[in-house]
Amino acid sequence: MSSTSSPVRVARSIPRTTAEGPGTRFALWVQGCTLQCPGCFNPHLWTQRGGDLVAPETLLDAVPADVEGVTLLGGEPFEQAGPLAVFAALVRQRGQSVMTFTGFTLDDLRGKESGDLDALIAQTDLLVDGPFLKDRVDRARPWVGSRNQRFHALGPRYRTLVDELDGIGDRLEIRVSADGTVSVNGWAPTATLDLILADLGRRQSRTRR
Ligand code: SF4
Repeated sequence: MSSTSSPVRVARSIPRTTAEGPGTRFALWVQGCTLQCPGCFNPHLWTQRGGDLVAPETLLDAVPADVEGVTLLGGEPFEQAGPLAVFAALVRQRGQSVMTFTGFTLDDLRGKESGDLDALIAQTDLLVDGPFLKDRVDRARPWVGSRNQRFHALGPRYRTLVDELDGIGDRLEIRVSADGTVSVNGWAPTATLDLILADLGRRQSRTRR
């Protein structure tokens, strides 16, 4: 790992969420994904052109000390594996955990025999792998989008959690900022989201009257 770290192309982050993995977590969405799964929830994150370039050390400064860990989402984290491995190592040095989502399978990633990919795998405590398949939507397990996606406890930290997933409810978080901007994280079918946001819009317009 190099001491002069390349930047991560960041789309968005949330300092505290309980909808993107175990406990309260800092969530980081990276910009760019070449997989382009049909039905993807985040197609605006496919392009490599957007987002902000941020050094791993600067990202670490934004992670609250009291959260359980960091969740890396996308976009595709393993298409920026080098700088994210640096960031993940810094997070784990502080005793916090790293959860990473990927549209690749773990076997695919290991088969590429890339130092950067292996480094991010090595710095991940809990991996969720596999592309989103819109005809296999998963409403039973938390955090995942489709039934093909698998949880891998890559270290001891979440080994028992992987056996207890059925008892963990899924969550959707909706944030309304003072200027009326609405942002959503967590996973829900598009039709459900549309209903929730339409209802929220009606409530906001009633409040403004
Ligand atoms: S891997 Fe994730 S971000 Fe990329 S297209 Fe598939 S669902 Fe979307």
